[in-house]
Amino acid sequence: MPSLPPLAIGVCSWSLNVTSVSELKQKCDVLGTNVIQIACGDPHHASWKEGDDMPRAALDAGFVMTCSMLGFPGEDYSTPQTIQKTGGFGDPSTRPERLERFSWALQRTKQLGLSDMMFHSGFVPAKTNADYKAFLATLGQAADRAADLGITCALETGQETADHLLEFIHDLARPNVKVNFDPANMLLYDMGEPLVALRKLGKHVKSVHVKDAKRPAEKGTWGTELPLGQGDVGMKEFVQTLKDLGYTNALIIERSVADAETALKDVQHGKRLLESILKG
Ligand code: MG
Repeated sequence: MPSLPPLAIGVCSWSLNVTSVSELKQKCDVLGTNVIQIACGDPHHASWKEGDDMPRAALDAGFVMTCSMLGFPGEDYSTPQTIQKTGGFGDPSTRPERLERFSWALQRTKQLGLSDMMFHSGFVPAKTNADYKAFLATLGQAADRAADLGITCALETGQETADHLLEFIHDLARPNVKVNFDPANMLLYDMGEPLVALRKLGKHVKSVHVKDAKRPAEKGTWGTELPLGQGDVGMKEFVQTLKDLGYTNALIIERSVADAETALKDVQHGKRLLESILKG
């Protein structure tokens, strides 16, 4: 894969509501980027039409892939409470099967020629919670499986405060575990001020999602995700903070809307906004 200039602008494959690599390529051409984070897909859910040939098709399409993304079947984002129950490795009863899914995704990541994979770990339990140790051990197992293949895992932010995530990363003590920082998630889950969180997580940040949002109006409900520049992250300040931290990896735009046309339009708008910010 060709190398990437610092702060190259890219997009999450799952933000473009596509089911095939050819469709993804078409939309990336419209956007004028070939830089992507790519969903691993799944044999049973969020699958790619190319099936097991997806990695070959993605490589042939000439994408510059920065990392892969693993999601788990059964994750339910309807409310913060449903995702707390169903997300990542949060539920002890699904940990064994999800570790297997994790291993499958590591193999797919290798096939894509990548050494980075991001995912939602699930809500990190409070340190006083009886499940903290078991959750930590599960993530330790996952990280070790990744390390065996030379893969770095980046934990998506949002479900917990930066301080709690830092404490967890410290306790996990696996050098191949980093952070995929998503500033909007800090607002959507109402877990702190995004740029303060970014500075705290600083050296652990391996990749970022560029996404915008407003906090929930009511405690315990979702905040509102919005096109870049329309939420409360402060895109200019976000980019400046990344520069201050010496971050040079890609700026990967993420947008979650069901309508494919709106998604493409919003990502396009976001890309233009980032380009103007980078030009200063
Ligand atoms: Mg994200």
